Amino acid sequence: MSILIQISYLVASVLFIIGIKMMNKTKDARNGNFISGVGMLIAIVATILQIDLLTLPEILACVVIGSAIGLYYARAVEMTGIPEMVALFNGFGGLASVAVGLSDYFFRMGKAEPLDVIIGVSILASLLIGGVTFTGSMVAYGKLSGKVTGSPVTFKGQHLLNLVLLIAFIVLSVLVFTNPGNTFFIIAVTVVGLLLGILTVIPIGGADMPVVISLLNSYSGMAACATGFILNNNVLIVAGSLVGASGIILTQIMCKAMNRSLTNVLLGGFGQAPSAGPQDGPQIVIKEVGVEEAAMLFDSASSVIVVPGYGMAVAQAQHVIRELMEQCEKRNISFKFAIHPVAGRMPGHMNVLLAEANISYDKLIEMEQINDEFANTDLVFVVGANDVVNPAARTNPQSPIFGMPILNADKAKTVIVSKRSMGKGYAGIENELFGYPNCLMLFGDAKQTITKVVNEMKEL
Ligand code: NAP
Repeated sequence: MSILIQISYLVASVLFIIGIKMMNKTKDARNGNFISGVGMLIAIVATILQIDLLTLPEILACVVIGSAIGLYYARAVEMTGIPEMVALFNGFGGLASVAVGLSDYFFRMGKAEPLDVIIGVSILASLLIGGVTFTGSMVAYGKLSGKVTGSPVTFKGQHLLNLVLLIAFIVLSVLVFTNPGNTFFIIAVTVVGLLLGILTVIPIGGADMPVVISLLNSYSGMAACATGFILNNNVLIVAGSLVGASGIILTQIMCKAMNRSLTNVLLGGFGQAPSAGPQDGPQIVIKEVGVEEAAMLFDSASSVIVVPGYGMAVAQAQHVIRELMEQCEKRNISFKFAIHPVAGRMPGHMNVLLAEANISYDKLIEMEQINDEFANTDLVFVVGANDVVNPAARTNPQSPIFGMPILNADKAKTVIVSKRSMGKGYAGIENELFGYPNCLMLFGDAKQTITKVVNEMKEL
């Protein structure tokens, strides 16, 4: 039986790795997710077969309740609410690690078992990383959902306090080993972990929150890995390591895309760069365009690049953009999409929405591949994007987004921007592109205005 279970864990681990590898390419991502899901099912069944703590009906009841809650939220969540949901999931992963760490500690102490180094270190790691992940994710969830302030919360001596807490953790950990069975020290270690999670995430605000979510995702994997050592469960160690490593890789990719260093993220207290408010730059004078004129500009272009952003997700404009694409392609106009790595509110946000509208993957071009094409493009259509095309990232050292790589939309012959008003983007700053001589503003909800443009094109 034990060999069968270990073989099942091996198969599950291989399926996880294949699944993650397939998520590398948008077109294979759905199948990759399915394959990883099958791996998880195998791992769960194998684990259930060896549990002797609960009866089968009790386990099944937990599985049914957990799956029902998961299914409900997965179906109910709006696409724009996914980052919040990911934050909650990470947080519960961390909480589970804390629960396992504490219960294993008390179980061993109850049987007066000595705490060996590997198990002891794994329990302490579960409590620290799991605790940080839990409270950090709850703060991130609160910030993203607007339940707590999104602005950085800072105070004097914040980093020093974090350092003191880290030292306290080390001292308390030694005391846990030297005083086995002493409840105070193990609870104190847990409280330190929980406090550190809050204190490292509250100073982070604004546009850096996605990096934090990704980092916490990695932490939840590391906590699960430590839990795997406690429970002597190989598949948990492998799955935790995979989540931990892929989370760190994604964090690094996002840091690069948002021009933040990983050290800066790890130390917390970022997202406080000086802001360049509207009063800091010259007054922006804009030019408006109507739907008829916009339709004519599309009709006469030979190449179009669409830059989708968060506003496209809000307006759910992806389907009508496909119709616009069909109208353009009927006229032999080259039509592509430029995808910025942090467009929208989660990694891959734009890819998912455009795929939902049956826009083929090969039309979605990553920033590095498409940025040189803008200068030779007739018309760039910015749909609900703002920060990711803000030239201030190149030109204004005072701007909070200075240094962030952006899409070179401003280099095209003509730029049309579809948005409702002169409202700002996530970073909360003005966009000088809107005042450029080659830029025209098409005001209104993206879905409604693009529908009108498409109808106009049908008449031409
Ligand atoms: P953005 O800078 O947030 O701008 C979105 C724009 O959409 C707004 O200026 C808004 O202007 C417009 N908009 C809203 N509703 C609309 C509607 N119904 N129709 C048309 N336009 C609408 O978006 P972005 O350029 O995609 O940049 C993403 C930002 O989010 C970056 O700063 C990034 O760092 C941050 N972020 C990214 C992630 C991620 O992982 N992708 C996660 C969290 C945060 P109006 O109000 O005038 O309409």
